[in-house]
Amino acid sequence: MGKEQILSERTKYCLMALLHNLWQFRVRAFPEEKEKHENLAWQWLRKYYDEALLRTFFQPESDKNLRHLNVHAIFLEAIRCVGSVSHEDVNNDALDAELRLLNPFSRVRNPQELDPSTFPDATYLPLPVIQDGVLKFGWHVPAKDKIGNKTEDYRKLWSSFEDELEHLKNRDLIMNVDAVLHLLDKYTSCIPSSGTIGVIGRADQEKIVDISLFDNARTTAAIMLCLLDYYSEKYGEDFNNKPLDSEIISDENQVKDIEKPFLLVGGDISGVQRFIYTITSKGALKSLKGRSFFLELLLEHTVDQLLEKLELFRCNVVFTGGGHFYLICPNTKKARSGIEDVAGDINDFLRKNFAASLELFICYEPFSKAELKNVSPIWRRLSEKLEAVKKRPWEKYLDHFFSAPEEPHPDCYTAKCDVCGREDVPLMSLKEGVIEEVKVCKGCKEQFLLGEKLHKASRSRGKPVIYRWDSEVSVYDLQIGNSFYKISGDYSDDVGSSASVVYHLNEWDLNAFRHNKSRPLLAGIYIPPDENITDLETMVDKSYGMERLGVLRMDVDYLGRIFSRSVPENERNFSLMATLSYRLSLFFKYHLNGILSGRDNYPPKTVLFPRSASSCPHRLVSIVYSGGDDLFLIGHWLDVLEAALDVQKAFRDFTANPFITLSGGFVFGYSHDPVYRLAELAGRAEGEAKSGRKNGQEDTRKSIAITENHVFPWKSPKGGDVEALQQIISYLSPFMKPGSSGRSMSLVEGGLSMGFLYRLLDLMRRWRNLNKWIHPKLAYLFGRTRVSEDLKGHLKNLQDYVFSTKIGNGEHVEVGLMLCIMMIRRRSDEP
Ligand SMILES: [Zn+2]
Repeated sequence: MGKEQILSERTKYCLMALLHNLWQFRVRAFPEEKEKHENLAWQWLRKYYDEALLRTFFQPESDKNLRHLNVHAIFLEAIRCVGSVSHEDVNNDALDAELRLLNPFSRVRNPQELDPSTFPDATYLPLPVIQDGVLKFGWHVPAKDKIGNKTEDYRKLWSSFEDELEHLKNRDLIMNVDAVLHLLDKYTSCIPSSGTIGVIGRADQEKIVDISLFDNARTTAAIMLCLLDYYSEKYGEDFNNKPLDSEIISDENQVKDIEKPFLLVGGDISGVQRFIYTITSKGALKSLKGRSFFLELLLEHTVDQLLEKLELFRCNVVFTGGGHFYLICPNTKKARSGIEDVAGDINDFLRKNFAASLELFICYEPFSKAELKNVSPIWRRLSEKLEAVKKRPWEKYLDHFFSAPEEPHPDCYTAKCDVCGREDVPLMSLKEGVIEEVKVCKGCKEQFLLGEKLHKASRSRGKPVIYRWDSEVSVYDLQIGNSFYKISGDYSDDVGSSASVVYHLNEWDLNAFRHNKSRPLLAGIYIPPDENITDLETMVDKSYGMERLGVLRMDVDYLGRIFSRSVPENERNFSLMATLSYRLSLFFKYHLNGILSGRDNYPPKTVLFPRSASSCPHRLVSIVYSGGDDLFLIGHWLDVLEAALDVQKAFRDFTANPFITLSGGFVFGYSHDPVYRLAELAGRAEGEAKSGRKNGQEDTRKSIAITENHVFPWKSPKGGDVEALQQIISYLSPFMKPGSSGRSMSLVEGGLSMGFLYRLLDLMRRWRNLNKWIHPKLAYLFGRTRVSEDLKGHLKNLQDYVFSTKIGNGEHVEVGLMLCIMMIRRRSDEP
């Protein structure tokens, strides 16, 4: 067989494995059809795929080709590895149609607590809602009821699913694995797959289903491709000429680690933090976005190179984000050398273009079929390997680094790159025709322009895409290795026809996919839609209250522990781990955009201080970075602070599990501050939120630090939490009103004076620092204060609240006052 032919055969196998369990969807939508499942799958799939292919999977006995019989055996073995059942073993009655899918986060428990009564309540994922015959992918949170999926809902879902599949067929995209996978994700990730019935938590022996049809399908396909490669390498020519079903389907292999057909491949790009943040403030907003998005593309590029080299598909990707990726690959000679080749190519490119500031490390760990049932030891072994190689950076390039130092480029005798500081490359203007010229290197210019284009694409009303070509083209935005990328606000056939791949940014409507290599790319790209917001200065300038920046860094607490210890040992199977990491990254890569823009059914935005819709219609925030399990936001301080509360609330609803939490660090800054400094401060504040040092408490994670000095738990029975902070602001707000400029607030006449607020703030600070009783001074302050009749009640409420605050617990009053003062402070552009 030729190379093309083999690839097309593999594509078909992968598609069959992805679609093999769809009959379960069909049966739930049309329970009155009394067909055998085998026939159901067969008849329905025949509309889309050729019969010879279907026969390999569904009617192997009619096929005399021994290779096909072996492929069928591998397919059955993959189904067994995933722990589900094939269509041959289930009858209609086993499908409890009304049962909802268990929220996979319900599996996560506090490992310190073995008492089942402390397990979180299980929650369930209802079916997505169809409006006007269309599924609009959006915010979807777990429900408490485990029953409630209706035939009617399944039927609507099925009809919309078929429409989109029909579109793929009409567009000749029916063989595009990425598109089919995305379609399955959209429609079947809340449909329970049969045969994964287990027990959970409080309700002992309760019947639940915790793997979705989507996760079941993509895991089966990934494992099947690995087994196919492993056994064809192992048996060579015999694989085509001898029946091997008894070798492939061996019970012994399922329980003992006799052979290791799989590799868990882990990739880690090091130098990410320094690469993103070590830039000067010149053009910071776009450079930041451009650099961080460059890294995301670099990661996607690397994963694509690996998949293309190994002839695998996106179902083999367990996770990408945060500078890391994990893939499941076959443990074959070809795969191992392919991995080495790709790592070598990417590192050559990184060394030449980024002066060794970025390096890609790739390691792999072989594992057996039996180990699929508890994957955390494999992850641990792989992490140890990655840690070890990261201690020896550029090991393969030492000769290069020990050779004589390079002369600076003639452009750099008196200057260096204004953004990154490099001196060994030619310099060029960042923007032509501006008065204060900024000279940068090629890489920095490309990244700045990438950020600019991304902002433009994100604001366009179209459907942004990124084209990739694998040979040089005349117009492109960015080069990675031998590929050339270009961002556009909308897909055009004219440009797209010559492209090798088209990435659709955050697109869930399959009708937008038109290229045979169209595929989705989810990324945090929110930016306020106002086109006048071009840099950090304007973001602060267009804002409300004091002109300061806010920077937020946030991540999931104890992520490693969630994966290694918080899921009971007998449940740490491959499918569950893949599902958990996938859903986390969906939150950070995709849903964050919806949360910040307050789109569709996303939770309502937090408002600490009311401002008119005309002065502040959108969050003045930019996502610098978001993926994996963490994020970095920059923007106007009030919007960033409110966004932090929004993200926390949304995350709480999304996981519906009190053990899975976020912590964040928030700091104030000026728009001309160097970004690395703000990133560092926010990192330190985040560290403070997670340090557990405060008040000798055992665990202060699950909190936000507002600057390094003030750590507030999201919620604490002892008080002094974020809710208390919002409460004190509500006690102070009757004394404030929108200012005449519409840009800040002012004090109500006959109410509190600015002097009072400063004096109270000073007392609260002293209280914290000295930890001494200051109530006589407080009483004196309140006693001397006179307000008009209509405000007396509010003053009394404020006084009672401040006095009721326990000693050592008044920090929320202090910070609340500080924020109010920041809202009232006259802006520099006000009279
Ligand atoms: Zn540079």
